[in-house]
Amino acid sequence: MRKNVALSVLVLLAVLGGLSGCGKDGTPPPKGPQPSALPSYQVRSSDTVTGSPTLDAARSRGHLVVGAKEDQPYLGQKNPATGEYSGFDIEVAKMVGADLGFAPEQIEFRTIASANRETALQNGQVDYYVGTYTINDNRKKLVGFAGPYFIAGQALLVRKNETKINGPQDLAGRKVCSAAGSTPYQRIQQDYPQAKLIGYDTYSACVDNLITGQVDAVTTDNAILQGYAAKVPDELKIAGQPFSKEPYGIGVPKNDTVLRLALDDALQRHEQNGDWKKAYEATLGLSGVPAPEPPPIDRYQ
Ligand code: GLU
Repeated sequence: MRKNVALSVLVLLAVLGGLSGCGKDGTPPPKGPQPSALPSYQVRSSDTVTGSPTLDAARSRGHLVVGAKEDQPYLGQKNPATGEYSGFDIEVAKMVGADLGFAPEQIEFRTIASANRETALQNGQVDYYVGTYTINDNRKKLVGFAGPYFIAGQALLVRKNETKINGPQDLAGRKVCSAAGSTPYQRIQQDYPQAKLIGYDTYSACVDNLITGQVDAVTTDNAILQGYAAKVPDELKIAGQPFSKEPYGIGVPKNDTVLRLALDDALQRHEQNGDWKKAYEATLGLSGVPAPEPPPIDRYQ
């Protein structure tokens, strides 16, 4: 029975991700990104930014390659039928891409797991990365960050009938799952060593294990967990309050300062012209949290 529920959640997530607008009777589903509400972004001339090796390579290739997540509802999700990506992070990638001279059709998204982001940027596998990527000093030694463009906070996802877990202090002796290489994984390891920490490549794998009873909690950013909870509200809930600050940045190759500052400018432009808010409301906003004010951009030296 439990197994069936897990399977059906996977199918449900895939189907919700896959349906791009219509229910059986032709009416839009009540939840899920609605393409019609998404802003369209004005594509600027491609030669406004000069001196970025990453952009020069993208221009000669003819398209951008952007790293993203594919299993995070409302943030970064890949439609298994069409291969198309959608969600707030995907919109952020598209809006800033337009400022660099690339239309949305000229962006090839590539799924990169949390643990592989720095190497993907260092090896030139992606031009930039937009996928719930926390800016911090350790990572800044390896990559650069434009932004932040959103602030999340670490939280806990539990089964609906769980009453004993209300915060990270309740994790002692309980099995908690997170993605390897993520800041939430590291925080549990360091600050809550009595928790039985389990690492997978993705949060969706953790969520499947939560539903089948293999683990007792999933921990990562509230923005991510809200998406999973909203997809299966009868099975899952968020427990307690967020207990960290996770400022999301756009990851770039470390030494490409021209690209980083161009992305900062682009973010600012789209925050000011209303695109950011519209994109939020058509994606992440559907998981139930109204649009916040975008955080100030940190053009660090
Ligand atoms: N924002 C956190 C991080 O960058 C967790 C989400 C994720 O793994 O993408 O590690």
